Formats: sequence, C-alpha cells, structure tokens
Amino acid sequence: MSRLLISTDLDGTLLDHNSYSAEAAQPALLKLRQLQIPWVLNTSKTLAELEPLRQQLEHNHPFVVENGAAIYIPTDSPLAPDLSPDPGGKYRCKIFGPSRRRILLALEPLSQRYRFTGFSALSAERLADITGLTPEEARQAMARQFTEPLIWEDSRAALHDFASELSLLNFQVQRGGRFTHVMGRCDKADAMRWLAEQYSILWGEPVTCMALGDGDNDVGMLQKADLPVLVRSPSHAPPQVPGRTDVVVTEQPGPAGWNDAVSCALQQLGLAT
Ligand SMILES: [Mg+2]
Repeated sequence: MSRLLISTDLDGTLLDHNSYSAEAAQPALLKLRQLQIPWVLNTSKTLAELEPLRQQLEHNHPFVVENGAAIYIPTDSPLAPDLSPDPGGKYRCKIFGPSRRRILLALEPLSQRYRFTGFSALSAERLADITGLTPEEARQAMARQFTEPLIWEDSRAALHDFASELSLLNFQVQRGGRFTHVMGRCDKADAMRWLAEQYSILWGEPVTCMALGDGDNDVGMLQKADLPVLVRSPSHAPPQVPGRTDVVVTEQPGPAGWNDAVSCALQQLGLAT
C-alpha cells in the first residue's frame, strides 16, 4: 500500500488564470478532505500572499512558497517535528533558497546590459495594473523573501545569455505564467520530494506523489512526480515534460481540469466511489 500526497501549483492550475477562483475544483477538494489526503500548495507565491488564500481555500496542510525556496508547516501538524519554528510562531520552516537580498545584488550589474523590470523596481499600483490584483494583493506579491520576479523586456536570445550569466553565480532563471523568476538552485520538485519523505516517515508507508501544474516552472515537479498532471492553460500550450510519456493533460483548463484529474485519480486508486 502507499498513500497519496498531492502537490499543486496555484495560478492557472488550482486557481483560474483570470479570476483566481478555485470554485470549479471544489468537488475534488471536498473528496480530499473526506479522505484526509494532504494537498500541498507548491507555488511561486509568497508567504504573505498565501496566508489569505489559505483561509479562503480552508487549507491546513504544509505549503511551498516562491518556487521551492521554502516550506512552511503549520505548528499543529505532526509532520517534521524537529524543524525550527518560523519567527512568526505559526509555522515550522524548511529553507532551501538564498535570500532575495543576495539575488538583488547579483541582478544589479546585469540591469545595465539587459532590459527587464524587477518587482523591486515596481510600485504596488503598477503591479496591480499588470496582473489585475488589488493593490493590497500586489503588496503581498511584492513581499518576497527568496526570489525576484521580472518582467522580461528583452529578446529570447538575451534571456538565454542572462540565464547563463546567473547560472555561473549559482542562481537560476525560470519562466512562469506571467513573470520570469530569478532564484537559487531550488525547485518545486525538491520541496515536493522532501515533503513526500516527511509524510512517508510520519505514515510509515510509501507515498504516491501526484503533481499538478500548468507552466514551465512546474516541469521539474511533474518529472519527479509519480502521477504527473499538466493542467491545460487558456494562455499557452502545455510545456514538454522531458523523459515522461505518462503525463496526463487535462481536457479543461484551470480548476475544472484540476477537478477532473484529481477525481479521476481517486477513482483509479480505488479511493473514491
Ligand atoms: Mg501556474
């Protein structure tokens, strides 16, 4: 026997690309609650963005912020009891990535030679205009600890050179749905595998990891999942997942596709009637 763990991206996956609503996924989320299957949020979002979102989603499981840079585990969870508490006191925290300050220092000289605008150079109002977020949500998106999202304004070829330069400094560049993220060499995949290991220890059973995502920054996570699902996007073609021929691509986009894929997996695993 093994037990199921779900690791999911948010924007364009569990949340609708335009409305940011998870409404269409509610039937599957209800089943996960009934079956006590943990669904871990694994996103490029920040802690500040996730706190109100977790309340709306009634989410009480661990979550991964800023593309795998850190994992937060609610203090009342029995998972990974030896981790040190976060200063806020609500979570235990496992950090994988370098600080944002170090990333901004590395970006400074590159801004002379490449055209991009980082979050640090944007006002909350400007970010709200670009994303459709409210100014308050934009402020939460800008409260980053481990990554710097950029609006890339240069060519594809320039992005390649830019990524090579950062790679020499041990940083990586990932393209997300809306932004290009500069971050340490951490990944949603490593955070997912680390959590799977913790659940396996807690449960005393092997873990089957189902991962759902829609963007390039989900590819690593899908490659390392036992059950990879690409949620169709209304804005771009599904990315390639190298080395995997068993990726499920949903018919429907966003939360409706998420709902279908999770419901279908629960049935196939004999967990739902
Ligand atoms: Mg996404």
